[in-house]
Amino acid sequence: MAQAIEEPRAPARATAAATCRSCGAPLEDVFADLGVQPLCESYVDEAGLHAPEVFYPLRTYVCRECLLVQAQDFAPAEDIYREYAYFSSYSTSWLEHAARYCRDAAAREGLSADSFVVELASNDGYLLRNFVAMGIRVLGIDPARNVAEVARGKGVPTLAEFFGTGLARQVATEHGRADLIVANNVLAHVPDINDFVGGVAELLRTDGVASFEFPHLHELIRQRQFDTIYHEHFSYLSLYAVEKVLARHGLEAVDVERLPTHGGSLRLWVAHAGARRTAPSVPELREVEARAGLHDLSGYSGFQAEVAHVKRELLKLLIGLHDQGLRVAGYGAPGKGNTLLNYCGVGPELLPYTVDRNPYKQGKYLPGSRIPIHAPEVIAEDRPDVVLILPWNLEAEIVAQLSDVRDWGGRFVVPIPEPRFV
Ligand code: ZN
Repeated sequence: MAQAIEEPRAPARATAAATCRSCGAPLEDVFADLGVQPLCESYVDEAGLHAPEVFYPLRTYVCRECLLVQAQDFAPAEDIYREYAYFSSYSTSWLEHAARYCRDAAAREGLSADSFVVELASNDGYLLRNFVAMGIRVLGIDPARNVAEVARGKGVPTLAEFFGTGLARQVATEHGRADLIVANNVLAHVPDINDFVGGVAELLRTDGVASFEFPHLHELIRQRQFDTIYHEHFSYLSLYAVEKVLARHGLEAVDVERLPTHGGSLRLWVAHAGARRTAPSVPELREVEARAGLHDLSGYSGFQAEVAHVKRELLKLLIGLHDQGLRVAGYGAPGKGNTLLNYCGVGPELLPYTVDRNPYKQGKYLPGSRIPIHAPEVIAEDRPDVVLILPWNLEAEIVAQLSDVRDWGGRFVVPIPEPRFV
């Protein structure tokens, strides 16, 4: 008798028909179809090598009514976020970004010991601990129990819950409403964007401000960042589509900054409608998006062809290196690397291993491709000819960290917008 194999859990939505998570219109127009892929943060351990993996379709649509680009949610959020492997504290440049944000926000809003700051998706407390150090009262909210536990250990009070309108009311009653709500790199990850933004409206003081950071769809398209598409990432956001969600909940964008993080992000400052004056940056960015074609359905067609082009070019490059007898190693094991490698069909025969600073990932294997993940020191021992940088958003940091690679004549490759040597 064969051993009983655990049944894969049924997808949250099994029917082909889907509706827009923002406005409810039927979804008909495919933006990018990346085939079937496992959840990109489901790293495989030794035992998992002998077990099956669940693959879900990874297909994104653009809504023809509100132009929100979005994934159809096959994978239940419970599966994705309860044991999340991503600890923010393992990236140096990201910690600096967070510290700078806190200093700027405290100055901008005149935060003091009387203020209350709430962060949604507060991860291991890497950001809020900066406010704690300033003597400001904080509360973190993050559904991943293991990560919330780490945050509490660092003195950052954290609720291990999914944020939405219900939880917002509860927090407002128990802790008061917030002067500042930080929602950095979370809006794209929430399955019910209306419940989430509605919760922000509930929890925000009348004169308070919320800041949302998210990768800008304009850059995703312009720089062919298709590898930032994964199941954990439900929406791909433009100012245009976000403003429609905000308006539905009595909120509006009052200022916007363009940031280099994650390949090009927006930081949107949001207040209750009419509560604050709108800075010129908001209409200016609307104009940028309009010129880029993002106000029209036709601006979204043609992306699939560019994605397929990157796949062919990356395979040509890796096969060429292999045929020259050169040895290639990966750097990093980010979610985006998994989308890239699985879509392109790259396995250990072209990329024998990758390395990552996060000890949680070391000794495991990338989902789908099952490429082994080692500690970064392995690069110095193995001296590969070429290092493929998977977290291309950290390119400068990684090239600086691995400066000895150049000493033995090694080179670096980044995969997008066109696979190329750095
Ligand atoms: Zn829509």
